[in-house]
Amino acid sequence: MKSLTGYQDFLLKEYSNLPTGRYVNLVIVRETESECIFRTEGSGEPLNRELVQAGMQNTDAIPRVVISKRKQTAVERRTGREMLRSYGLLSVSGSECMLNTNAPCERCVDCWLYGYAVGGGGAQKSRVITEDAFSLLPAGQIVATKTFNALFDNNTMRHPVTGDASTSINASEYVKPQVHFVDIETLKDVTAAEMAYVTANVLKSRRYGAISSKIGRMKNHLVAIVFSRAEIFSTLEMVRQLYDLLSVDNTGLEHPLPTTRVLEQARKAVDALLPQVYGAKKVMAGAELNTYLEEVAAILEEPRSFLESLTHSYPPPVKDKGKQKNESK
Ligand SMILES: [Zn+2]
Repeated sequence: MKSLTGYQDFLLKEYSNLPTGRYVNLVIVRETESECIFRTEGSGEPLNRELVQAGMQNTDAIPRVVISKRKQTAVERRTGREMLRSYGLLSVSGSECMLNTNAPCERCVDCWLYGYAVGGGGAQKSRVITEDAFSLLPAGQIVATKTFNALFDNNTMRHPVTGDASTSINASEYVKPQVHFVDIETLKDVTAAEMAYVTANVLKSRRYGAISSKIGRMKNHLVAIVFSRAEIFSTLEMVRQLYDLLSVDNTGLEHPLPTTRVLEQARKAVDALLPQVYGAKKVMAGAELNTYLEEVAAILEEPRSFLESLTHSYPPPVKDKGKQKNESK
């Protein structure tokens, strides 16, 4: 990819299972576009909150809503897997690769990149590392409660046998629309093509939250990509730095915050935190980032050959002796 020419030092030319400490950090602002429930609907479970310092300068403790990292990668993985499946690339081993079973195929792009663990022995560490995402504003401003008629087993509000309407009511907390979460996804030791694949998954994923839930639209904004040779700042540091920057521009810190303002300051927060990152680093943002995103979008127009060559870029399967031993036990 042309737009990545200047960043080759931070990318692998081909897949290697030996870590070389090359990091591609996607700095993401996730914006809710509808009411979002991150719990099983009607379960009555509250949203996750953590009491943390509001900013780096501002030391007030505020409760922030936290979206677990597992929820986010699960959604993005599924997005990528759908695309692979539609081109027959989830069954390169002869049978369909199944997520969350004891039988990952160990051959598809998803297995190579997001990792898998097999009870018996084989494992591939995930090279897509996420943290929990933190809300920018305190929970009090962005959370509300809604009541639902409890659903029956058949997922409707009608009793499957009698047809009577459900009368039990459950309350669920939800995150309001236009709420911003900060998140950093780190890709470790990836090739340019792998980076493009993950970027596409992040950009294409639009529905998060409880799987049973029909609501939960979300838009991911890529603020910047930080290429580095060491781990960078954390998601929590980033959200606190952003909070400080938004506090000093004196236009108030009330929900709903204009997204353009959040993104503008998020870009500055990256610059403010960058000096503390050790070793070589480079930031891709602005026009350069747009060029990269356009290239990714162009790939997605007709992704077959891209996905096929990525799939075939991995080493051929070797009979894993350790695994066979385990199986014969
Ligand atoms: Zn697989």
